Amino acid sequence: MKRADGVYVQFCVQVDRTETIAPSGTAVGLDVGLKEFYTDSKGARVENPRFLRKGERVLKRSQRRVSRKVKGSRNRRKARVILGKRHLKISRQRKDHAVKLARSVIRSNDLVAYEDLRIKNLVKNQGLAKSINDASWYQFRVWLEYFGKVFSKITIAVPPHYTSQECSSCGVMVKKSLSVRTHICQCGCELDRDHNAARNILSRGLGTAGHVGTFMLDMSNTSGESTATWAGANLSLQVGS
Ligand SMILES: [Zn+2]
Repeated sequence: MKRADGVYVQFCVQVDRTETIAPSGTAVGLDVGLKEFYTDSKGARVENPRFLRKGERVLKRSQRRVSRKVKGSRNRRKARVILGKRHLKISRQRKDHAVKLARSVIRSNDLVAYEDLRIKNLVKNQGLAKSINDASWYQFRVWLEYFGKVFSKITIAVPPHYTSQECSSCGVMVKKSLSVRTHICQCGCELDRDHNAARNILSRGLGTAGHVGTFMLDMSNTSGESTATWAGANLSLQVGS
């Protein structure tokens, strides 16, 4: 607002903010890719942000420049300042990308399911870990969960086992190596590998969400069957709050 004695800027910072939006009527599963940032259960793909790969090259170059300079020299200090700036720029781009994408995914779906991937477990395979980092998947997930709370949407991390091997139509295991890009099942289901995985992720997510309200009932059920279902879906469930 403008006043005679200058311009005042009002900041409104809400930490525990919530926003109300109409339900979208849709649920989605996301499969993290190497080539794609993710493929969703409807078959849509979101490209990997190229700036991260490019940024990595820039960082390596700046890093080399630092190590080439004489230790303690003025030039080394300068090179280090440049390296720091590049780091900052890339981490800002990464965050920007994660925030925008997560917000839009949450706004347009009532339930979002994704694999409970832990970076720690992925480090075994360095190439994959690097790509996961590049794609800033982890950061994206954090923002998904954040916006899930803001917009009162459900976010569910499901166990990542066999999501790409199972047939999303009939549930049969169709073994395939990483290089096989298409899921072809005897039941007639033929889908892009990641699309099939995303559908499995969504159905696992829906299965878990469906059990939330019946958990207590299941505990009193002595048949053990429904309890087993719950135990089988031993997930880190993040619903709303
Ligand atoms: Zn099938």
